[in-house]
Amino acid sequence: MSEVLRRVPGQPDAVAFLERAAERPHHAYLFAGPEGSGKQQAARAFAAALLCSRGGCGECRDCRLALEDRHPNLVVVEPQGRDIRVGESADEDGTARWLVARASLTAPEPNRKVFRVDQADRMTEEAADVLLKALEEPPPETVLILSSARPDEVPETVLSRCQVVTFRPLSEGFVIDALLAEGVDDARARLAARLAGGNLGRARRIAKDPEGLAFRDVALGTLGLEGAAGALDAADRLLTAAGEYRTRVASRLDEELEPFLDAETGKPLEQYRGAIRRMEQRHQRQERRAEREFLDAALLALESWFRDGLLAGSGGEPDWSINLDREPPAIRPAEAARAVEALEGARSALADETNLNARMVLEEAFLRLAAVEVAG
Ligand SMILES: [Zn+2]
Repeated sequence: MSEVLRRVPGQPDAVAFLERAAERPHHAYLFAGPEGSGKQQAARAFAAALLCSRGGCGECRDCRLALEDRHPNLVVVEPQGRDIRVGESADEDGTARWLVARASLTAPEPNRKVFRVDQADRMTEEAADVLLKALEEPPPETVLILSSARPDEVPETVLSRCQVVTFRPLSEGFVIDALLAEGVDDARARLAARLAGGNLGRARRIAKDPEGLAFRDVALGTLGLEGAAGALDAADRLLTAAGEYRTRVASRLDEELEPFLDAETGKPLEQYRGAIRRMEQRHQRQERRAEREFLDAALLALESWFRDGLLAGSGGEPDWSINLDREPPAIRPAEAARAVEALEGARSALADETNLNARMVLEEAFLRLAAVEVAG
């Protein structure tokens, strides 16, 4: 029995399958299911089950490190920018060539090696071809876990060599119950589930992180600001808050390195050099992403508030509101629609990672919002 797998909520079929699989693993799996259905939590739990000598007890060092994505024998590859690339050579970190080369090396610790490829549909064709070679002749004691919300976009050649584990979408009621079971109070659980649109991971972050609603507080705090000067001020407040969020993420990441440093000198222990470098690179990516994610969440929060106004103005049930704890704005539908459009435009501009001028995007969006009439 695998404690870590049992903790994966709402996916009894996938969990039952993975419990059996952990005993005699196949060499490759594809976790397929929508965003927020728990694929990532399951992939971490499965990695822990594979690396723990007790099949995933949830208590030991192997489990702890695997669950936090920092076990030395665990390698995580994810898109850098838009794609998972093939890479120039095996030395180029985070690419397909690099992964395949590592799969044939001896693991840092005497144990299996587990490789995870998140958002596997974002592999380029060349990357998929290189990965395919490792799937055709799998190195011993190596398990590959791909995951994707768009499994139909994973190349058929790769897909056909993986055992597919299907994750179902979670209902809002289920997300609320899961949060309640984890000790979150009722009102916060309902609000977090609604704001997260049924995405359990996001709902959990909103509900449990004391700063989990900071993005919405900052966003809704800009609503009283007026005119062009108010618009520039609003953009500035959002950017400042996003920068602070990035700093918090960075300090949390620093703590993760601690177990791999020499207690006296604070320098990396020799056998963990590679693992530490990988962690540092992931941290840099996570930090860069943190800022954009915060801005996106803030803009989405504003958008949801205007949508609530749109709904209220067209006679919708208050139960359907997203911001359950706030009165919706009194606003004419056409005005609410203009606000939503301005915010959607800004979100899609920021989603393009090559767009470097976030301030300009935000200022433009808030200038457009300043022209929207809200009655009170
Ligand atoms: Zn364990």
